[in-house]
This record gives sequence, C-alpha cells and structure tokens, in this order.
Amino acid sequence: MPVAIWWIRRDVRLTDNFALQAARKTGYPVVPVFIRDSRLMANSVNRRQRFLVNALKDLQAQLRQEGSDLLVRSGEPSDVLSTLVREMSAVGVYAEKDFSPFAKNRDEKVSREVPLTLTGGLTIHPPDAVLKPDGAPYTIFTPYSRKWLSLPAPFLPTSAPGDFLPSNQFPGLELLPAMDPVEGFAATREEAESRLALFLSLKIDEYANQRDRMDLNGTSGLSPYIRFGLLSPARLSLVIRQQAGYLMDGQRTWLNELIWRDFYQSILHHFPFVKYEAFQPKFRHIPWRNAPDDLRAWKDGLTGYPVVDAAMRQLKSTGWMHNRARMITASFLTKDLLINWQDGERWFMDQLVDGDTASNNGGWQWAAGTGTDAAPYFRIFNPVLQGKRFDPHGVYIRHWVPELRNLPDQYIHEPWAVPPLEQVSFGLVIGRDYPHPIVEHNLVRERTLAAYRASAG
Ligand SMILES: Cc1cc2nc3c(=O)[nH]c(=O)nc-3n(C[C@H](O)[C@H](O)[C@H](O)COP(=O)(O)OP(=O)(O)OC[C@H]3O[C@@H](n4cnc5c(N)ncnc54)[C@H](O)[C@@H]3O)c2cc1C
Repeated sequence: MPVAIWWIRRDVRLTDNFALQAARKTGYPVVPVFIRDSRLMANSVNRRQRFLVNALKDLQAQLRQEGSDLLVRSGEPSDVLSTLVREMSAVGVYAEKDFSPFAKNRDEKVSREVPLTLTGGLTIHPPDAVLKPDGAPYTIFTPYSRKWLSLPAPFLPTSAPGDFLPSNQFPGLELLPAMDPVEGFAATREEAESRLALFLSLKIDEYANQRDRMDLNGTSGLSPYIRFGLLSPARLSLVIRQQAGYLMDGQRTWLNELIWRDFYQSILHHFPFVKYEAFQPKFRHIPWRNAPDDLRAWKDGLTGYPVVDAAMRQLKSTGWMHNRARMITASFLTKDLLINWQDGERWFMDQLVDGDTASNNGGWQWAAGTGTDAAPYFRIFNPVLQGKRFDPHGVYIRHWVPELRNLPDQYIHEPWAVPPLEQVSFGLVIGRDYPHPIVEHNLVRERTLAAYRASAG
C-alpha cells in the first residue's frame, strides 16, 4: 500500500498544518518523518536543537495516541528521502516551504530526487502574495504592511480526513536523542496553547503600552513556539482578527509584529544576499573595528552600561531577550563599539532559542542602519536614556546585574556617577565589582558617523 510522506522541518504540529493537509489529501496513509540533518545537528548542541528535539518528542507522543509514530532518520535529506520513497512506495513528499538560502538549496536538491510538494504555512501570507502593483517586492515596511492588510484574511487548512500509517507498519525507527529541555520554554503543544491563552486573556489589551517595557512581562513570549511551528502564524492572525477588540491598540499592534515577521521572511526570500552582506550597498564598506576584548565584554554583559549588560546576561542565561533589549544591545555593538553587525548576528544565533535567520538578520540590519527599512544611521540609541525610559526603576537591571541591586534609582542607569566615597555604602566599587564603561557614549558618536560616512562615500 503506498504512503504519503509528511516531512517535518519547522511545522511541529498536527493542526492547521498545510503540509500535513496536502499529504492527507492524497488519500494514502501519512508517514510523519523527521530527518536529523547532520549539517544542522552536528555542531555543538544549542538551545534550538534542544527545543526542537523536545517538541518532536511531544509530537511523537501525540502521534502514538493516534496509533502511529514519528519516523526519525539521520543523514542528508535527499539521500534519506530517496531511500524512504523507494522502500515505502511513497507517492510523494510534502513539506512546508522555507525561505532561508540553506533551506532553498536543500529543497531544490531533494526535488531532483523525489516528488516534493512545498506548501505555505511558515508565513501568514506567502512572500509572493505581497508585492507592489508592478510585481516587485516591497523593501519598506509601511507600504508592505498596508498591502498585507488589504489582502483577504488567510484561510486555515481544513482538517482533511486521513489516517496516519499505523506504527506496526513502520520500518525501523531511530530514537530521538535525549536532550535537556530549555529551561523556561517547555517545548510542548500544551505549553504553547496555555501561553497563547494567557496572553490573549490577560496581556494583549495592555500590549501597545507595555511591550517596550523591559521590566514588565508584557509580550507573549511565544517566539520559540512560532519559530518551530508549534503554533501556526495564520491561526494567530485569525484569532486576533476574530477577537472582539480587533480594532483596539493591543490587537492591532500585536498583529503588526506578526506582519514584521512576514516582512523579514519576504526580504530574505527576495534578497537572499542579506544573509551575507548589508542590504544597502553604500554600507558594505564600513571600517568596523577589530576589537575582540570589547566584543567579549559585550557578549558577557560586562560593558559597564547596566541596561546593555542586563540584556546580554539575560540572553546568555536564558536564550531569550526582550525586543527592546535586542534593539539596545544591537545598537550598542554596532554604533557605540563600531563592531560589525554580523558578529552580533552570529552571537544571537548561537544563543537564541527563537533564533530565526530572517528575523534576526532583519533586526540586526535595522539596528545597524544597513538594512531595508533601517533606522537612519545617524540615530544612535543612548543606553542610559533607553534604560531610564523602558526600565524606569531598574527592576530589569537589578534582576540580571545583581551587583548593582543596592544602588538607588537615581544611579541605577549610571553607576559610574556614584561618588567614590558613597560607592562602599552601596556595596559596590566601580572598577572592582562592576566595570567602568568600556566606551564613553557621548564621545563615540563622531567616530561612528565618520565610519558610516566613509562607507557611503
Ligand atoms: C537585533 C534583533 C534580533 C532579533 N532576532 C530575532 C530572532 O532571531 N527570532 C525572532 O523570532 N525574533 C527576533 N527578533 C524580533 C523580536 O525581538 C522577537 O520576535 C520578540 O522579542 C519575541 O518575543 P515575543 O514572542 O514575546 O514577542 P511579541 O511581542 O509577543 O510578538 C509576537 C511575535 O511576533 C514576531 N515578532 C515580534 N517582533 C518582531 C520583529 N521585530 N521582527 C520579526 N518578528 C517579530 C515574533 O514571532 C513574536 O513571537 C529580533 C529583533 C532584533 C531587534
């Protein structure tokens, strides 16, 4: 009896799944397959691998409840899939389309070996559906989002009836490796659903006011669940539109963030070179500093700027960072330290549990001022003012930089301003317990502007 293969990559869910629906529509039993691609899994185990493997275990448990299983194989996808298609007489392989250069090359190679059908689902609207009237892609967010909002609401795949292949008909199963869960991010469907329910019932109304505050838990915390498809982005957008208060600020603002996500996927799809160089040619020759000690201090949260250090320690310790903090730390690396945004992009990808090529690259190029819809290069975040505005009482700083916890609010964003004689009374000596600022923000501005001007010519 032939089968249809559902090739799972970053769509780890049984509902609202276009690839699974397409496999089911064949009318043949569906075999859910995960391939441990050595190129993706061979490097040291990072948080995303741990999250993914644990999410797959949860999916496997759901499949077992339906009498089926998850077929795991290791190797190069085109080899693995050719063998499986032959062994199992599969009529085809069905997968969700992914827009990273790596994924496109991989899928191109697979499609030369087996009948591969790629479906939507990774974005709410596919990149090729949100185009200018002349068919060109948008490179500025505001007109992109206007066009995006003018499109009919996306539809979800209907649950096409169809069975999974019973587990007793599976060929040999490989086990998923044992990997520790990522602390704070249980990789289960249940956790994804309860976070969503909590956000929609308690937080979304205040989202527009609170989303920038690093001291408040005002955002959804759903990014890893969206990254690996435990939640369908199209479903999220429909849930928001259906909420009675769709026109309220919170709902609109949150939908706008999901549109940013689609936008960066579209940029990566249409301009794959952004993965390797600045979107704007005039900023491809910035004379970046080679400053390994400063880069290290930034990664370790030891720059002497409390809000930057709090954020970098949060990232290293948890694998997640607040969006405002991502903007502040990215600006600090590129504009204050004049270190290449690609060094920061790489470090974020090493650390983030939600690390996504498109959103990370888009965020970095935005902050560096080199990207599509960039903050103008001469706008440089002041880390002290950002801290005062978005962590007004230093709650976020005190949590992540405990050596500063006894400082009164007046000094929490500028510990270097505490007079030396007073430092002892706060249990802190600057230079011993906490670093002096590694650069002086007010002095580096000219250096940065000169470097950007030099590149722009
Ligand atoms: C330098 C930098 C790097 C970033 N790297 C990533 C990354 O690797 N992966 C990632 O998912 N997001 C990234 N972002 C975007 C954003 O910071 C995170 O999506 C957000 O902080 C996740 O928290 P949340 O789920 O609580 O977000 P919420 O505020 O609840 O937003 C809901 C969802 O919308 C999407 N979203 C929100 N803001 C953005 C944005 N600016 N761009 C794209 N999508 C967005 C995410 O999927 C997020 O889960 C980056 C931003 C910057 C400035």
